[in-house]
Amino acid sequence: MDRRAIYTFEKYSRETWEQPRTRGPGSDYVPDEIYAPLIDVLREQASNILPYARLTAGVSLALGRGRTWAWQETLDLTQAVWDHVGGDYSDKMRESIDGACFRFSETAYGTGSGQCFADLVEIQSDRSVNDPVCAAHESGHLMAGCLMAPVDSVPPAENILEIQGMFAQEIAYGLLLERAASEQERLSVRTHRLSYYTGILSRIPLFLWALDRDDDAATSMSGLAREFRRWSLDENDISFVCNSDNGRIVRPQDMHKHPFAALIVMPLYERYAAADETARADMMKVLYQGGVDTTLIDVLHAFGAQRLDDVKALGRHTCRHLTRELEESGLNKGVAPRLQPNS
Ligand SMILES: [Zn+2]
Repeated sequence: MDRRAIYTFEKYSRETWEQPRTRGPGSDYVPDEIYAPLIDVLREQASNILPYARLTAGVSLALGRGRTWAWQETLDLTQAVWDHVGGDYSDKMRESIDGACFRFSETAYGTGSGQCFADLVEIQSDRSVNDPVCAAHESGHLMAGCLMAPVDSVPPAENILEIQGMFAQEIAYGLLLERAASEQERLSVRTHRLSYYTGILSRIPLFLWALDRDDDAATSMSGLAREFRRWSLDENDISFVCNSDNGRIVRPQDMHKHPFAALIVMPLYERYAAADETARADMMKVLYQGGVDTTLIDVLHAFGAQRLDDVKALGRHTCRHLTRELEESGLNKGVAPRLQPNS
């Protein structure tokens, strides 16, 4: 894949869903050539994974089995993520944590979340395992968008933004599993990881449904609500899928952000973990230090995905991994499958 090649961005985007671009036309989108084979893989393997999306029962199990996280422990784990990467990353994170760039407020159990604004991370802490996972994710955005970004750089392209967040999250999952004090705690981490990825990947079939249609149903919130009901999904979750304005769908939030990253980030992390020190440093440099000049193709190349077949292999690896996790954790038992249309 040549980074200068002309790619098309038509299949998985739509004019009415676009928002003003900060870069060239379509440069924030995942090129169709890259997305299409990944979606083929997901379609082939979706029957194994997607019915378990939004593992509500599994998530409460994860939270219930985990331990309570004090805010300082969450900060320590976030620091440990970047100590694991080493060098400047470790120092920059320490300065940032010491400089109070991470703030938290308390929220109800099971409703934790986080955001990264330029040079500030805010975590809505629920004291569950979600806290360190979420803080690590946001620290990935902070690293790429601020701490390691070239001076005066604008934020990285949307199609690599969530790879940067989820990659740090993957390091955190690894550390959490390594440090877990009991089997219960390990299961809680695995469950969080599984439900996180299946939940995000489950948005893809909904996006595809909406993209396939040109009628009112695909562009109105009421049409989407109807589709949610048909798939036995909770209408309250629509806000996860798209932004709306006066009852019209403005744009799916992130066909080119979270769902795409979730399709490839687990194998990217495994490649990193298996690489030697020099190769790791190169991967981190491309992922976190390039600012706006880094393209998705650069990132894929850095992690050894040179050809479209390699990209497809990443998707296949992700699906197999999630299937295995579902089976090994036993979470496919006792959790009602969802995301199957009623008719
Ligand atoms: Zn993110």
